[in-house]
Amino acid sequence: MNNSARSSISTITTGPIYRSEKHYLDVPYDAAESAPGATLLAGSPTTCTLRVPVRRINLTNGEHCDVYDTSGIYTETQYAPTEDGSYPFQPDLEAGLERLHESWPQFAAVPADPTSDTPEGQKLVRTQLAWARNGIITPQMAFIAARENMPAELVREEVAAGRAVICCNHNHPEAEPCIIGKRFATKINSNIGNSAVTSSIAEEVEKMVWATRWGADTIMDLSTGKDIHETREWILRNCPTPLGTVPMYQALEKVKGDPTKLTWEIYKDTVIEQCEQGVDYMTIHAGVLLQYVPLTANRVTGIVSRGGSIMAAWCLAYHKQSFLYENFAELCDILASYDVTFSLGDGLRPGSIADANDKAQLAELHTLGELTKIAWEHGAQVMIEGPGHVPMHKIVENVTLEEDWCHEAPFYTLGPLATDIAPAYDHITSAIGAAIIAQAGTAMLCYVTPKEHLGLPNRDDVKVGCVTYKIAAHAADLAKGLPNAQARDDAMSRARFEFRWRDQFALALDPDTAQDYHDETLPAEPAKHAHFCSMCGPKFCSMRISKDVQDYAREHGLDSEEAIAAGMAEKAAQFEAVGGEVYVPVEELQATNTL
Ligand code: SF4
Repeated sequence: MNNSARSSISTITTGPIYRSEKHYLDVPYDAAESAPGATLLAGSPTTCTLRVPVRRINLTNGEHCDVYDTSGIYTETQYAPTEDGSYPFQPDLEAGLERLHESWPQFAAVPADPTSDTPEGQKLVRTQLAWARNGIITPQMAFIAARENMPAELVREEVAAGRAVICCNHNHPEAEPCIIGKRFATKINSNIGNSAVTSSIAEEVEKMVWATRWGADTIMDLSTGKDIHETREWILRNCPTPLGTVPMYQALEKVKGDPTKLTWEIYKDTVIEQCEQGVDYMTIHAGVLLQYVPLTANRVTGIVSRGGSIMAAWCLAYHKQSFLYENFAELCDILASYDVTFSLGDGLRPGSIADANDKAQLAELHTLGELTKIAWEHGAQVMIEGPGHVPMHKIVENVTLEEDWCHEAPFYTLGPLATDIAPAYDHITSAIGAAIIAQAGTAMLCYVTPKEHLGLPNRDDVKVGCVTYKIAAHAADLAKGLPNAQARDDAMSRARFEFRWRDQFALALDPDTAQDYHDETLPAEPAKHAHFCSMCGPKFCSMRISKDVQDYAREHGLDSEEAIAAGMAEKAAQFEAVGGEVYVPVEELQATNTL
């Protein structure tokens, strides 16, 4: 990383989130137990202690709630700002994060697919998929098991079946392992990256730290402007999550933006350059075939994927089949040798409600299923990208077809937007689709920010996009019955019913905004303990009335139904006592103390 870039990176946002502290669960790992008989690389340790991060939310009633945490070291207490907002200590971005995986046991290469007798299946590779198929529970799988509160054997089985991926390039040892699969917590991706017209390296590093603070499970660096390599280097060395890219963008920069100048060699060199740097997963638009391009001719919005339109332009210019499709087996060997995961791109995804689930989209999906089988044969991990823009009644069909045609490889979708009519609110239109598609089985959701279709998102947009997508992912996890998801909702509900306002802020996905909204009308300290807020006011607070019923029941040794009946009888007696009239002068009620 060069010094001119360093001098431009000043302050990043660090320190704990409201009333939270970073905790690490120490999980012992022993290769002899987790992978009996497996061969380790020469010099590899045989045991280690995995430090699995959680965010501990401390509650005012003495309890705490541990939640999944993707924020890396940046939310540790040592990096907290002072009261004036300055930061006495910050992580050393030039040194980068600790290279975690290097102190873990490292397994030797194994057959890509021990059940296959093809030459590809017999090739020796070092990927999570191959290790899982060979019965090995890697440190990454054990780490994930602790993080997800799931058995390590389940993690291994899902990876072995191709239903889940662990994106971890050997050259990105800084990343905390994360699993993408429908049996696990739904993940969200945050796109960052400069463009030819705006943003700097400093802003992109800060956006990465900022996005992981608000829950991004993976980051995609979609830079298309200058300094693509340098920007990515800074992000990678400081990124605690897997990082994805679209290599086509950098390849296109190399030919000065002219798709007809692209060649397989230029593309391949770009892929290798990014594999060497440590990119964990790559969007590869190998399913955009020459014969599919005419299927888009009558679309309302044509081809909206940047990678898809570049490949379509190349295919038409030469009237040749896509060089990505033609050279796919070689791509598999390259990605498998670094354990980089394929994110098979949906270059023909619909860009409008009118084009959803059309022939072009589904033809490409079919091809992605064919490519998935080839990649698996080579031991490479795969996930499948999905749309885009889809009305609600057509969303579930996308998951059903993807699982059927792509053999249950994890689905990774952009939204989808459930309507096209709300630019500036597309984080919401897309979160509607995202919640539905995640409940149906999508494993990772690519966020959409309010700036979608309008401009490059800034820092605030990144936060809004992340929080909005955490809502969609969490709502799906509740529907999927994940116990960790329910626990957080229950903690929030109890805090709400007991008027523990600070705990409600702390348990919120965005504590700062929750507190700001509350304090806008009731900023005084006593309001943090009040049994109402400004929405209904003290007299009409249904929570308070309901709680009073419960307190009344407890005091009188009754259950809630009896309490309601007793309370009703009491009120009826009062009604009788003031003459049984519906309209009674206030003064009379005051006189009998029944107001
Ligand atoms: S006043 Fe209304 S919104 Fe506020 S806590 Fe009570 S019931 Fe909820």
